[in-house]
Amino acid sequence: MEYDTIAAISTPMGEGAIAIVRLSGEEAIAITDKIFKGKQPLSDVNSHTIHYGHLIDPKTSRMIEEVMVSVMRAPRTFTREDVVEINCHGGLVSVNRVLELALTNGARLAEPGEFTKRAFLNGRIDLSQAEAVIDLIRSKTDRAMTVALNQMEGRLSNLIHSLRQTLIETIAHVEVNIDYPEYDAEEMTHQLLHEKTMHVRNEIDKLISTSKQGKILREGLSTVIIGRPNVGKSSLLNSLVQENKAIVTNIPGTTRDVLEEYVNVRGVPLRLVDTAGIRETEDIVEKMGVERSREMLKKADLILLVLNNGETLTDEDEELIRAAKQLDTIIIVNKTDLEQKIDMDKVISLAGGSPIISTSLLLEEGVDQLEEAIANLFFNVGIEQQDITYVSNSRHIALLNQARSAIDEAIAAIEAGLPIDMVQIDMTRAWELLGEIIGDTVSESLINQLFSQFCLGK
Ligand code: GDP
Ligand code: ZN
Repeated sequence: MEYDTIAAISTPMGEGAIAIVRLSGEEAIAITDKIFKGKQPLSDVNSHTIHYGHLIDPKTSRMIEEVMVSVMRAPRTFTREDVVEINCHGGLVSVNRVLELALTNGARLAEPGEFTKRAFLNGRIDLSQAEAVIDLIRSKTDRAMTVALNQMEGRLSNLIHSLRQTLIETIAHVEVNIDYPEYDAEEMTHQLLHEKTMHVRNEIDKLISTSKQGKILREGLSTVIIGRPNVGKSSLLNSLVQENKAIVTNIPGTTRDVLEEYVNVRGVPLRLVDTAGIRETEDIVEKMGVERSREMLKKADLILLVLNNGETLTDEDEELIRAAKQLDTIIIVNKTDLEQKIDMDKVISLAGGSPIISTSLLLEEGVDQLEEAIANLFFNVGIEQQDITYVSNSRHIALLNQARSAIDEAIAAIEAGLPIDMVQIDMTRAWELLGEIIGDTVSESLINQLFSQFCLGK
């Protein structure tokens, strides 16, 4: 396939030290040659080399920029097309001038995600890998980045490929049996069919079981801080934000809810919800009313409930503990520097197993233990989780669940002794659904929609 030559600024907007304008397509080198003056024309240089020179506007012969230009010829490039990267000074004006020069000399402005889309269309990466590029751009912690990188390297794809392979081989065996009933050298007994489908179901289940953590890594753990006025909610929020440098990010083109704040607690990205509520009105419950707060609590992945060590428990405290008890809650007994008036036995019995951490946010004590408790709640299977292939993308999770239902139906059909071509229909359906994850069986409109989520220049 051949496409026209596209160009875009591929470094973040702003005052970086350098900025890169990237061109991709058949004319990438020829277009750059029109505007670049160095020791020799770029059409003569070796692939994967970098060259010093100047950009000259061919119309006015005026020097525009001092640049370093990398030349990478197809197919060993990200897009599998010829790629030129013009490294120029980082100011907004200068990089825009370079881009404009490329555009007036034959390149077309790339749409968001178009470089990655080409890598996909030219067969360099599959769809789940392309989606990983989006995740990588948006990843909020090192761990999230590792997940995205693994996915980009194709770990999920490899797993999906091997499951599809098992399914297709099994289907092929079944077909042999249907077409040649007398041919029994490799008889596909119900038992073997059962074994294979059970194997596929187990593998899909394993993937699905990583999705909760995967989704948390990707989207952040939605966290609310609750408690009566004056117990230390704002202090807690500030302490979390200061110690864990708010991650993120000004990704052009993405909207972000202003009421949220992200922090990275030992690799767990917390998305602190309604922080404005805490900061401004000092009391979510008061501001939102009990019913709405309850709704919000139910939607949260993590509740941090703050109590005051220096006061006796109030009815409101008890009500909050009860409301949060069934959910993932950590109870924080703050102000341990004050004389203890709170009835800890009562707190423990009301808490029903939720972890209880004592802190003095004033003296900065107990915050480490709190962070450990947060990390344990979500990664309690041991810290070294790097080797797991997480599924973190909602589209993938939905497809895996659908594929699982199809496999379930196949298994039910096998167990009921239904005709084998009935089983085959369900297995084929599972095969197709898994294919959608890696983009083997997806529609063009879905592809366009997915790639439009990218930022410009990727
Ligand atoms: P909020 O109303 O729940 O948000 O509580 P704040 O965080 O605004 O804190 C209320 C008051 O308690 C402030 O004066 C804080 O300085 C103080 N405070 C917070 N944490 C502690 C603590 O651990 N010990 C003591 N003695 N005071 C604290
Ligand atoms: Zn406050």
